[in-house]
Amino acid sequence: MHCPFCNAEDTKVIDSRLVADGSQVRRRRECTSCIERFTTYESAELVMPRIVKRDGSRAPFDEQKLRAGLQRALEKRPVSTEQIEEAINRIKQRLRRLGEREVKSMTVGEEVMGALKDLDEVAYIRFASVYRQFQDLDEFREEIDRLEKIPHGSLTRKNSKT
Ligand SMILES: [Zn+2]
Repeated sequence: MHCPFCNAEDTKVIDSRLVADGSQVRRRRECTSCIERFTTYESAELVMPRIVKRDGSRAPFDEQKLRAGLQRALEKRPVSTEQIEEAINRIKQRLRRLGEREVKSMTVGEEVMGALKDLDEVAYIRFASVYRQFQDLDEFREEIDRLEKIPHGSLTRKNSKT
């Protein structure tokens, strides 16, 4: 593997270990010319079912989107990146085990809720209370972004008038 710092062709592995429940290999590498060190993660690429959105359109399963949704819900919560990666792997395994070529985006959302329930009660409630109104992670994230743009306190003021 080429060095990301100086582009030298030769880098050597100085440490290798299993992470994320054994589904990833983490390798520490060192460049033989500039001596910089960096980390790579290797995991098996397995076919995931395609996602059927509420409007009937199909999209490839998007692991980044899943990760972003979990990180969003777990923001400032005492849950490690490693735990999040394990949860992502479990969700992917469960979705693959359904044995379907396509799954509804709602099914993915339910899996996310299940994972959050195990990881962190506060994050679960945070996610579930908002997510229940929506049917996919895109809508959930849009709503969270919208809520965060509202100045602090204006929501409660609005509610007390009614
Ligand atoms: Zn280098």
